[in-house]
Amino acid sequence: MALFDPKAKVISGYQRSIDERSSSIRKYYDEIGKLYYDQYKDMNVDNTKDINTRCEAITRLSNEIEEYKLKILFEKGLKKCPNCGTENSLEYGFCFKCGSKFDEDSAKEPKTEFEKAEEKFEEESEKAAETAEEAEEKAEEAAEEVAEAAEEEKKED
Ligand SMILES: [Zn+2]
Repeated sequence: MALFDPKAKVISGYQRSIDERSSSIRKYYDEIGKLYYDQYKDMNVDNTKDINTRCEAITRLSNEIEEYKLKILFEKGLKKCPNCGTENSLEYGFCFKCGSKFDEDSAKEPKTEFEKAEEKFEEESEKAAETAEEAEEKAEEAAEEVAEAAEEEKKED
């Protein structure tokens, strides 16, 4: 039953993320229009900074929407050709339309920039924890050596 399809649930979650971003983008467009008009009407007003902040937000949100669209495609067993944009089956090695070769990772689940950043942070934390553990082990070894040397000295006395 489609209602209980876990894939449909995942896809509708991604779709919600897209819808939220689309409505934010519309809101920013409205605000930019108003800011620009205020500046046009009164020569003393400079809204450049506020306008640019919103333009940057729109770019970021648009990129995130593209990421979620790729995730939805993946759930449907599809991927997009980076050359011509045609949707292909995940298992295809070459785009059926333009013949471009897909890279090896193209069949894997696409990650958003946020997910990539999260993974990188986790990896770095793990590495840092390992380094700390190693340092602790070395310190313990050094302490043991000192203790052994002291023991030896005692015997010699
Ligand atoms: Zn193509």
